[in-house]
Amino acid sequence: MKYPIVVVLIDALGFLLTERLGFHPDGLSNKMRLRTVPGFSQSAISSIFTGVTPDKHGKWMMYSFARNKSPFRWLSIIPQNVSEKRLWLKRLINWKLRNIDEVRSYYNLYDIPRNVLQYLNLPARRNIFMPEQNREMNTVIDELSRRGSRIFIRDYHTPEVVAFEQLEKALRTSNADFYLLYTAELDSDLHKYGTSHDNINAHLKWYGKKLETLLSINKGMKMLVFGDHGMCDVHGSVDVIQQIESLDVKIPQDYIPFYDSTIARFKIYSERAKRVITDTLSNLSSGMILDNAEKKKLGIYYTDNAYGDIIFLANAGEIILPSYMGTLPVAGMHGYHPDNECMYSSLFTNVDFSVNNGSIMDIAGFILPGFKSKTGE
Ligand SMILES: [Zn+2]
Repeated sequence: MKYPIVVVLIDALGFLLTERLGFHPDGLSNKMRLRTVPGFSQSAISSIFTGVTPDKHGKWMMYSFARNKSPFRWLSIIPQNVSEKRLWLKRLINWKLRNIDEVRSYYNLYDIPRNVLQYLNLPARRNIFMPEQNREMNTVIDELSRRGSRIFIRDYHTPEVVAFEQLEKALRTSNADFYLLYTAELDSDLHKYGTSHDNINAHLKWYGKKLETLLSINKGMKMLVFGDHGMCDVHGSVDVIQQIESLDVKIPQDYIPFYDSTIARFKIYSERAKRVITDTLSNLSSGMILDNAEKKKLGIYYTDNAYGDIIFLANAGEIILPSYMGTLPVAGMHGYHPDNECMYSSLFTNVDFSVNNGSIMDIAGFILPGFKSKTGE
């Protein structure tokens, strides 16, 4: 590589947001609007670093359904009256995932009930930001590492204030070829405050200053600053759980559900469950069931339906509440259909990069021209 590449991935740095607040750091003259993929950050970040759709990289959602292969299956031997909210049980689950299943990816147990958790799997096991060889999918970071690049990485384990300081210092003193900083702190603020709050404007201004300082260190660096998806303001909610639980079908005999904040997924085990759940969801005006044609178009069609037989996606601005993510409303949410304008991501760079109808999947080939993920073959 000729110059160092500096990648700053700011979770939820949406196109609409940066346009509205006039975020455009000096020195990064090239701006693009990028389409994202369905799902949440795991799905989008995997697509960014592999350059392929979720049905090719395989990591669409944090949890998939797995009746017999679940790393949580042992929970069935813990007495039923022990709540999943008990701290010792959470600690035991986490210990087992880290030490026995060797999970290194970001995951959260949220408020998933025990009777559901024991039928779920964690499809992503690695830390997507760190180079690894021969494990799951192949990312552009793996490839850079394989080719002998010197790599500097700070991910969500480091608070962003510290991460930016360390990146600045590294750019001044080290001679790495590839620098990557990932932060989820803007995403967290947007969930809390929505897109119009003063804190968001202040947060973007702070990023602007930090990025300009980084650029001033080495004029030859190739810098890319981008998000993985946008953020939509929340204006309504729908109680899907209550509607489904009032039906005469049971977990786990008839179905196993997973309620995310914008996506409700169902693994179906009886014809009756298929019929009544489909009917109930079809009658909701807050979202729609994705058919196979739509799933294929969106790059989330899995032949084994590992992420569910029925997938309900909420309309932009509506959230499923309560969900396994919690019982409290939030001001901003993502995880909607990527056609919604608030879902588009943005990219800023100081080098020429232009594609028509750009997508976050174009980024990997921009970091490393010609890169093809092995998962895509
Ligand atoms: Zn988020």
